Amino acid sequence: MRNIAKQNYTLKETKEKRKPRIQFCGYSVNANSNQPVRLCKNDKGGLFFNGVANCGGYWRCPVCALKISENKKELLSGLIGAHQSKNLSIGFLTLTVRHSKFDTLKKSLEKISNNYRSFQNQRFFSRSKIDLGFMGQVKTLEITYSFENGWHPHLHILFFYNHSDGKKIEKFQKDFISRWFKYKDNDGTLGGQNQQILNSDVSNYLAKYDITSEMTKGQIKSTKGLTPFTALAKIASGDYADYMEKHRLYGVYSCYVEQTQGKHFVNISNSLRKEYAEFMEEFDKTDEEIVNNVTIEEVLLKVSLPIWKLICKNDLQPLVLIKYKENNLEGVYNLLKYFRDFNGLDVEIDKDDVPILTFGYCELPPDFYKPKILSTWKV
Ligand SMILES: [Zn+2]
Repeated sequence: MRNIAKQNYTLKETKEKRKPRIQFCGYSVNANSNQPVRLCKNDKGGLFFNGVANCGGYWRCPVCALKISENKKELLSGLIGAHQSKNLSIGFLTLTVRHSKFDTLKKSLEKISNNYRSFQNQRFFSRSKIDLGFMGQVKTLEITYSFENGWHPHLHILFFYNHSDGKKIEKFQKDFISRWFKYKDNDGTLGGQNQQILNSDVSNYLAKYDITSEMTKGQIKSTKGLTPFTALAKIASGDYADYMEKHRLYGVYSCYVEQTQGKHFVNISNSLRKEYAEFMEEFDKTDEEIVNNVTIEEVLLKVSLPIWKLICKNDLQPLVLIKYKENNLEGVYNLLKYFRDFNGLDVEIDKDDVPILTFGYCELPPDFYKPKILSTWKV
């Protein structure tokens, strides 16, 4: 999926003749480093490569989006938990606007974000925040597409209250959504909006799980329509009827990348950031920090740079991880040996006692620990 995504340039990148960052994702090694790439295990048992660039493009890169959405899910889940533990309630709302099959994504996106901004300044809301016990909100943007109905951007919103009066909250939220769908050119339906209340019962784990998943995972695995990443997945797996459909799927992805540039996926209001400052400080990271923040529990295998370049050239990064999972070093060795590019592949043990894939001793720096050749290494 990432390889398909890499072919796409935004208009700006084309004009400036600039390579998109995603082209380096999972491929480039740190420019000043001669260090081998490391295949590592994290604290949850997952395998990954360390020492390789990550693009951090939430709207664009299926690999980074997965990491970022996972982090945001934990962040929201923690924020909800912190609020509930004070015996306070939270509202969950989904807001949509009417759109036609022929509306561009740009138009629908502008409509929903501009209308939501001005809607919040309306008297019924802006002047009654204190009465409502309204503390702040978290907002996420999700965009799906279908060939029948076109682009469907929608907002998922959490309202944080300083009380747990369910009746009062429900009355307000119902009023809120019935005003919203009639607001300006929203022209929506009541059925298109949704509201529910998450009370202070922390044991209701399922509700919290569902809500945080809906807020952060919709982009990746929506069942409601096509997301840019499900479009990429269809292209990558050949799940399309003909060339025309493939072309349209790529168009969906490409349009989405173009229109989401510079857009935040999660917005947390300043009042909440202040209220939960300690928590936010620890968990709120930039997308870049999220994708580069890894826990290395063990370095399992090193890959010298000449070998790494050939692995990338043959797009073998995911397969190397899979083969290691299946059959450790032997699995990886057998995989690479299958390709002519890896003629002369050797396994040595470095000074940290970790196996390293190389083209032999000569390619290693002079201060390198004189390797013990694995005598049992026969395939
Ligand atoms: Zn990436």
